[in-house]
Amino acid sequence: MSGGAEILVAGGGIGGLCAALALARAGRRVRVLEKAAEFGEIGYGIQMGPNVRPMLERLGIADAIEPHAVYPDALVLADGLTGGELTRIDLGAAFLARYGYRYFVIHRRDLHGAIIEACRAHPGIALEASKGLVRFDDRGDRVIAFCEDGTQCEGAALIGADGLWSPTRAAVIGDGPPRMAGHFVYRGVVPAENIVDRSRQDSMVIYAGPNLHLVQYRLRGGTVMNNVATIASRRHARGERDAGGPDELEEMFERCDPRVRQMLRYVGRDRNWVLHDRPPVPGWTKGNVTLLGDAAHPMLQYLAQGACMAIEDAVVLAAKVSAHGNDLNRAFAAYQQERFYRTARVQITARAFGDILHADGGARELRNHLCAQRDPDFPAEVDWLYRGITL
Ligand SMILES: Cc1cc2nc3c(=O)[nH]c(=O)nc-3n(C[C@H](O)[C@H](O)[C@H](O)COP(=O)(O)OP(=O)(O)OC[C@H]3O[C@@H](n4cnc5c(N)ncnc54)[C@H](O)[C@@H]3O)c2cc1C
Repeated sequence: MSGGAEILVAGGGIGGLCAALALARAGRRVRVLEKAAEFGEIGYGIQMGPNVRPMLERLGIADAIEPHAVYPDALVLADGLTGGELTRIDLGAAFLARYGYRYFVIHRRDLHGAIIEACRAHPGIALEASKGLVRFDDRGDRVIAFCEDGTQCEGAALIGADGLWSPTRAAVIGDGPPRMAGHFVYRGVVPAENIVDRSRQDSMVIYAGPNLHLVQYRLRGGTVMNNVATIASRRHARGERDAGGPDELEEMFERCDPRVRQMLRYVGRDRNWVLHDRPPVPGWTKGNVTLLGDAAHPMLQYLAQGACMAIEDAVVLAAKVSAHGNDLNRAFAAYQQERFYRTARVQITARAFGDILHADGGARELRNHLCAQRDPDFPAEVDWLYRGITL
């Protein structure tokens, strides 16, 4: 193991762990400081575009992930009010030929598990739980990280992969809290045999309705169905205090096709996720500190690319560190330069996709009209994204 002093990574989510793995494979020693008492992920699904698979290969974890991946035959967009299909992206031979890799879905715990196993097996990586970063001090030749438990760690640099509410970002950019979108998400994973309408079970399906949508796809060898319902709360838009609760969820789906309303049964009511994002802001890098993943470019989930971007970030960051030797300042600046426009485009496009999914009235009619003219073998809207990056 070479590479001088350790690099500190705040945050052991998908982004932070991939950064640790990528840097360690490039010969650096890395220490991951995770706030939670245990490293882990929530028990729901996640989609991985074709741009991710070559990154997983670079990280040496593609084979470990493969047994957990499920490959849908298509991404189907259906109208939530009628249940009818509007358009699709076929994920078969033409898709594979165009992008070189397939689209897959996976249980988050299986993905995170494979990444953390690879980190644990690497002698260059130290993983520390219950180490919430409170603040840091960049002293030019090193960075001191101060943790919630009163301890300090010293490293050559700090990567803030500490998510949406990143304290690292607060110090580097200082642009206040993220924007609350007023969108609320309910999730559920249920045995696949419990699903009444299984007519589209081999696909990843989005039912788009007025200010709402519902996503369904199978995980874990097809044995369980992942269900995600999102509402763009009208009560939130009106400034009401009880916005986004289970009663509003039911109320907003009332206009949907009975099959879609039935699918609402598969999401839990005990917990919801309140969506936030930010507009693109450059300046993720300051001296020996940089940001990665949601800390750098939090986005709405409507392109299903937040974690994909974090994984790409990790691989590019390590490539820049390798290219610039021990000059981490230059490496971090080059990393940001390379990542900013792509991630900014995803942030902005994700917002626009949300508006398209949630369209009502004339906008819904226009969406459905344009969808009917699409070529299912050419996903023009996301071609730039799925083509991935060159390293
Ligand atoms: C409903 C929904 C669906 C989504 N679907 C997809 C999808 O299909 N595909 C996709 O690619 N993306 C998807 N995303 C986005 C994706 O989940 C995130 O973009 C991704 O998890 C970000 O990873 P991260 O490592 O940057 O941040 P996080 O996953 O938030 O990890 C941050 C880590 O830092 C830790 N932490 C926080 N504060 C501190 C601190 N002070 N010190 C140390 N550690 C700290 C946290 O405990 C956590 O472990 C979805 C998001 C949502 C909300």
